[in-house]
Amino acid sequence: MAMAATPLQFASTTPIQKQFNTAKPHAFSSLSSRTPPPLSLRSMPPRARLPAAAAADASVVMESERQTTAATPSKTLPFRVGHGFDLHRLEPGYPLIIGGISIPHDRGCEAHSDGDVLLHCVVDAILGALGLPDIGQIFPDSDPKWKGAASSVFIKEAVRLMEEAGYELGNLDATLILQRPKLSPHKETIRTNLSKLLGADPSVVNLKAKTHEKVDSLGENRSIAAHTVVLLMKT
Ligand SMILES: [Zn+2]
Repeated sequence: MAMAATPLQFASTTPIQKQFNTAKPHAFSSLSSRTPPPLSLRSMPPRARLPAAAAADASVVMESERQTTAATPSKTLPFRVGHGFDLHRLEPGYPLIIGGISIPHDRGCEAHSDGDVLLHCVVDAILGALGLPDIGQIFPDSDPKWKGAASSVFIKEAVRLMEEAGYELGNLDATLILQRPKLSPHKETIRTNLSKLLGADPSVVNLKAKTHEKVDSLGENRSIAAHTVVLLMKT
């Protein structure tokens, strides 16, 4: 095997598959030398704890680590994206509330709050864009302030945190996944209400819905899920 040859040589002489196979050992060895040191070692000067041969390479790593760590708290981006996902079980005897709108159905979401899958995932998308923890950590059930709260309260708080951080909603795109009921008759009402809760123009709030092709819990009317992507813009 041509293991000893450099990836560069292969790039000009062999098929792509062969480049992958033969380049692997080089890639792994260079990756392993760049693995960040254990936390307990991070405060030590790199040259004091590494053999001279590795020190030059590792000092580059330490430098980039320092830059990343230092940049995190103070980084002010003109745009930030966030993604949210949520899923709830559907059970008979509960109301189905989507985007703050009650939708007639034979079952609804079993949850501590109103089980609004869309609002929960929109909140998570905004929190994610802000680099904050998820909805369960920001609004824990154990805090009486949030226990049993309507999901619109979480949206308003997420918007407040967004504004406090100096951002506004650029646009939002959400996809609901459920087998039944048909959402098309309710989509506009949901979208209008979501825009209102966000204090955003309806033209920047998009809502899509799809079935799950009758497979798995989503396709068998046993659950409902939602994905949301948001773009925030610096005000
Ligand atoms: Zn939820």
